[in-house]
Amino acid sequence: MDSWPNLRPDLAALEGYHSPQVEVDVRLNTNESPYPPPAEWLERVARATLDIGFHRYPDRSATTLRDALAHHHGVSAGEIFCANGSNEVLQLLFLAFGGPGRSVGLFEPTYTLHAHIARLTGTNVVPAQRDGTFAIPEEAKAKVLERQPALVFLCSPNNPTGAAESRQTVEGLLAATASWGGLVVVDEAYGQFAPWSAIDLRREDVPGSERLVVVRTFSKTWSMAGLRLGYLVADPRVVAAMDLVALPYHLDAWKQQAGTMALEYVDDMNQAVERIRSERQRVVEALGGLKVTQWPTDANFVLFAPEGVSADTVWEKLLLRSVLVRNCSSWPGLEGCLRVTIGRPDENDRFLEAMKEIL
Ligand code: PMP
Repeated sequence: MDSWPNLRPDLAALEGYHSPQVEVDVRLNTNESPYPPPAEWLERVARATLDIGFHRYPDRSATTLRDALAHHHGVSAGEIFCANGSNEVLQLLFLAFGGPGRSVGLFEPTYTLHAHIARLTGTNVVPAQRDGTFAIPEEAKAKVLERQPALVFLCSPNNPTGAAESRQTVEGLLAATASWGGLVVVDEAYGQFAPWSAIDLRREDVPGSERLVVVRTFSKTWSMAGLRLGYLVADPRVVAAMDLVALPYHLDAWKQQAGTMALEYVDDMNQAVERIRSERQRVVEALGGLKVTQWPTDANFVLFAPEGVSADTVWEKLLLRSVLVRNCSSWPGLEGCLRVTIGRPDENDRFLEAMKEIL
């Protein structure tokens, strides 16, 4: 038999990160926006596509897009770095600041891709557990900090538990990591649903904020998960490090153009956020009348645990009714939990009716 190249041994035990992509009527499993992007944006992007000189490489520093994002957030373009989805931003952060001999601290349960990408890049993962309310206890912070990690990760609002981190938590971690210059990374994939943003700390120049990295995406509130665009807001030295590890011309011309144009539709995006927030309120209230435990959410999803019947059974029975939610019950610290993304009103009705039947 021919020999076959061995996978890196530290990767051999890892599993990929997947959410089942099955054909259903109501897809509430991946926290996307239930609304398509504005029709006018789509038409303008289609027309502008004709004028892109596809025979030339794109603007390597994505100047126009970064200017537009800087304007949107009230920061300078030198503080922005863009990539193909925020997952790629995270991967590049690990390439630049993680790697063998370095650690990342994180508080579980949280977005599982943080630890996954860390491992792919050979970064040592130092996990600490959240408490029963999914808050971060002092012992968990101490456990992470004693290793002096190069990176500390937060996710605000936290996926999949839902609550936003407090300003004090972020400021506290910036202070606690000062002596060894640790980066504090706040993944704000769902930031527009939250009551505050860590980007404020950079604008206000709070102590340590030069080591704060805030990661954002176009995949959720901007209704552009299919486009793959994300970015970070951070000190220009972080941006320079990202430029160093990114592949040349990693961000194509079409995407730069489409992303820049999207930023002209902030009002539409905010309206969609408001609609989803009010639907979230309705779903939370309706779940309150059912036999489930649910956790407070500042995002476009709700984590809940059915009582008296297993999460696996509820997940399967929802699927039989063509409603797909995320089954988190095998994830550490989330036994018995399911996560439902807030959809359009008709989709949420389907989910709630199915839940009433099942429970
Ligand atoms: N961060 C968090 C917390 C997420 O939930 C997601 C999407 N599941 C991402 C980052 C990745 O988003 P994208 O790569 O689509 O920008």
